[in-house]
Amino acid sequence: VPCVSWWASIDLSPCYMYYDQKGAERLSWFRNKVLVLDYVVPTPLGTSWGLGGTCVNVGCIPKKLMHQAALLGQALQDSRKYGWQYEEQVKHNWETMVEAIQNYIGSLNWGYRVSLREKSVTYLNSYGEFVEPHKIKATNRKGQVTYHTAETFVLATGERPRYPGIPGDKEYCITSDDLFSLPYCPGKTLVVGASYVALECAGFLAGLGMDVTVMVRSILLRGFDQEMAERIGAYMETHGVKFIKKFVPVQVEQLEEGMPGRLKVTAKSTGGEPEIFEEEYNTVLLAIGRDACTRNIGLETIGVKINEKNGKVPVNDEEQTNVPYVYAIGDILEGKLELTPVAIQAGKLLARRLYGGSSTKCDYINVPTTVFTPLEYGSCGLSEEKAIEGYGKQNLEVYHSLFWPLEWTVAGRDNNTCYGKIICNKHDNNRVIGFHVLGPNAGEVTQGFAAAIKCGLTKELLDETIGIHPTCAEVFTTMDITKSSGQDITQRGC
Ligand SMILES: Cc1cc2nc3c(=O)[nH]c(=O)nc-3n(C[C@H](O)[C@H](O)[C@H](O)COP(=O)(O)OP(=O)(O)OC[C@H]3O[C@@H](n4cnc5c(N)ncnc54)[C@H](O)[C@@H]3O)c2cc1C
Repeated sequence: VPCVSWWASIDLSPCYMYYDQKGAERLSWFRNKVLVLDYVVPTPLGTSWGLGGTCVNVGCIPKKLMHQAALLGQALQDSRKYGWQYEEQVKHNWETMVEAIQNYIGSLNWGYRVSLREKSVTYLNSYGEFVEPHKIKATNRKGQVTYHTAETFVLATGERPRYPGIPGDKEYCITSDDLFSLPYCPGKTLVVGASYVALECAGFLAGLGMDVTVMVRSILLRGFDQEMAERIGAYMETHGVKFIKKFVPVQVEQLEEGMPGRLKVTAKSTGGEPEIFEEEYNTVLLAIGRDACTRNIGLETIGVKINEKNGKVPVNDEEQTNVPYVYAIGDILEGKLELTPVAIQAGKLLARRLYGGSSTKCDYINVPTTVFTPLEYGSCGLSEEKAIEGYGKQNLEVYHSLFWPLEWTVAGRDNNTCYGKIICNKHDNNRVIGFHVLGPNAGEVTQGFAAAIKCGLTKELLDETIGIHPTCAEVFTTMDITKSSGQDITQRGC
């Protein structure tokens, strides 16, 4: 679904249509006519990309690959401790990395195109907007216009990076939409924002050897468990990322053009005092949030309501908007998680309900996720703050432990930095309602526990599970220290 901005099924017949798969649509019974519009409005600096939506082109895929590039740098350092000897000076080449990643993305774009064609889905690289009920106008890059009518519409127009509206933001700053295909090494970089996008980008840029500073208005990783967020920040700080807290940029000026050039950033304190900060950077990466692409698609013409404050689309539990023939999925939904697998699941189940005779609805509860910061963070279920808010502190038991990945021991890397925590509901058989892990391969670790949580995982079941030794994930089978006990959780051996 993320590759699909809109799809409209035309001429609905009683034939079934099955809609599935990441990005490309697997329409196995495709006698309905399906049209997909996907059009990328270029960034202010002119960056654009192919079919597949944010995840493939400017999201999950390139960011995880750049994170991997950074991890490889760390692995190279570790390797010397494991006996590898090499004479050459180790350097990273930005252009080579970007070219390799963009080639891979190109292959995905192509695969989606082929897949759409195979399934007889009409794809138009055109911008869609409603012009009257059941009718859209599609405008392509050359300005050519076509009109299309359909019985049903699905909106999945996603989000785009927000700009702060300060002098120089659109002229001189980049966003994640530009970063992954940036044709030159960004150099000394200021990352503005503290979202997961900001911290992930800051993390891999620092890992690739850049001088990186993160400018934070208030807190790190809003919406995530704050203890974990603080630990991530602390790790990044001890691994070369600088943080300027409680400041926001007010102006970006160009001192020198170039690839990269030189920029002067002026920022002001959010702490009340009239403090001013000035510094020079090669690149300023804005990652202060993303806005739903719902304001310029004619929704008002057909009466689809959006939340005027944030542009998000409210839907019922069947992803139906207030206009019955218009559905919405993905990042534009109000109050839902902005994650690729969530968009895919919602789209797949919606298609099955619409045309496959199914009644299964998308379950948005206990969705696992991972932040790919240098120290990765996987979570599923509630943050400690949300758990306390919902259940009351006295009704919860939090078990936690620090751990030292075996691979890090010989390499001499940080002991007592990786951390696991589960939050249990005492009044429901100590059911696990929050799972949090900070450590290598956190996504791989979290995925399996997410399945267990879906099956009703309790602390007792975790205790009865035999761990796999030596792994990081085994820490969850041996957790016996509660946070409330205040006992020491530092680890001294294997
Ligand atoms: C840097 C970054 C990293 C991320 N990392 C992860 C991750 O690790 N894991 C994860 O699960 N999620 C991640 N995400 C989030 C993930 O990318 C989104 O949740 C997902 O792409 C949402 O899919 P979507 O279909 O709602 O929208 P999108 O994927 O954004 O697709 C919308 C498409 O519609 C097009 N469009 C918009 N308006 C129109 C119009 N009027 N006409 C035609 N086309 C239009 C857009 O150009 C776009 O191609 C990341 C996001 C970012 C920015």
